[in-house]
Amino acid sequence: MFGRAPKKSDSTRYYEILGVSKTASQDDLKKAYKKAAIKNHPDKGGDPEKFKELAQAYEVLSDPEKREIYDTYGEDALKEGMGGGGGGGHDPFDIFSSFFGGGGGGSSRGRRQRRGEDVVHPLKVSLEDLYLGTSKKLSLSRNVLCSKCSGKGSKSGASMKCAGCQGTGMKVSIRHLGPSMIQQMQHPCNECKGTGETINDKDRCPQCKGEKVVQEKKVLEVHVEKGMQNSQKITFPGEADEAPDTVTGDIVFVLQQKEHPKFKRKSEDLFVEHTLSLTEALCGFQFVLTHLDGRQLLIKSNPGEVVKPDSYKAINDEGMPMYQRPFMKGKLYIHFTVEFPDTLSLDQVKGLEAVLPAKPSSQLTDMEIDECEETTLHDVNMEEENRRKQQQQQQEAYDEDDDMPGGAQRVQCAQQ
Ligand SMILES: [Zn+2]
Ligand SMILES: [Zn+2]
Repeated sequence: MFGRAPKKSDSTRYYEILGVSKTASQDDLKKAYKKAAIKNHPDKGGDPEKFKELAQAYEVLSDPEKREIYDTYGEDALKEGMGGGGGGGHDPFDIFSSFFGGGGGGSSRGRRQRRGEDVVHPLKVSLEDLYLGTSKKLSLSRNVLCSKCSGKGSKSGASMKCAGCQGTGMKVSIRHLGPSMIQQMQHPCNECKGTGETINDKDRCPQCKGEKVVQEKKVLEVHVEKGMQNSQKITFPGEADEAPDTVTGDIVFVLQQKEHPKFKRKSEDLFVEHTLSLTEALCGFQFVLTHLDGRQLLIKSNPGEVVKPDSYKAINDEGMPMYQRPFMKGKLYIHFTVEFPDTLSLDQVKGLEAVLPAKPSSQLTDMEIDECEETTLHDVNMEEENRRKQQQQQQEAYDEDDDMPGGAQRVQCAQQ
């Protein structure tokens, strides 16, 4: 493998670049690289040299085979050993984008790489959660690249062209549908699962059995911030299933607010329904409303104030907190319904007439009234009346359609 006897050279520099110990795990390396690469990205004003060094160090240490060579013989051995294979390593931007997707901050450098699918989960939250803010821990299982083989699937890192599909990953099957009809169907090769490559049984990675990925349980803590909206997305970039040569997609949580029994929300405002008796509407009211954070609000009318049916009143700064400005709040609107008594006794009528403003006086004389026709007022449910009318119209339209052929026939009969 090596042209000359490898000389013992420095094998700590890569660890120092990433700021990890020599016993760092794959996870530690990943984290360290991620953090440092963001900090030193040239698009964000970082030093391009440092950025390149980070990628180089990470590329070597994240590959168990290369790491072993590096640990034993140092950097020089690695450069000589990988001679034709491009000791300079990959484009540092490719390594970066494999972590973060896209070009990493706007630069569209790098080769086209497949992007893994985003995984979208609905996340049910209560209105209280959105008012107070909360965090929810969710346990998810996902595929991660096998750490033992770095997602190669084999011990040696080699793979062979799949014999089943000649490396294309697709197979064509022909179905005979009839004497002169065939149907060609293309489907992913079952032998290689559409990857186009297979791994020699003996060379199979013992950890992932050649699957290149292993399942990992992961707990994500989702921070639901004060004032977030229904259907707002919370994204965990690059936390979806990992796959070889693929930019890992995102895990996206979509908030779904559960209906609240009392409060309705419209962006920053809250709405609550309240029913008053006629006496309360006329003579004043007071009631206690428990807010979303458990505070008891005393809500009362001003002395002498009359509340009309279907009217609104508002309390400032008791609505929802604004997203990312939670010290600012919307309004709390109260919609009033007034319940009228169904009937009154004659005595009650007399009593009311004595205190309420006088009726408009009738300008008709008894004589004139005698000349009018008597009428009777019936109670109606307008909704029901309208529904019945609509049904009737539909029935008539249907009957007309039905009459057409029958009518024609009648004419024919008459002619015979
Ligand atoms: Zn195949
Ligand atoms: Zn493996």
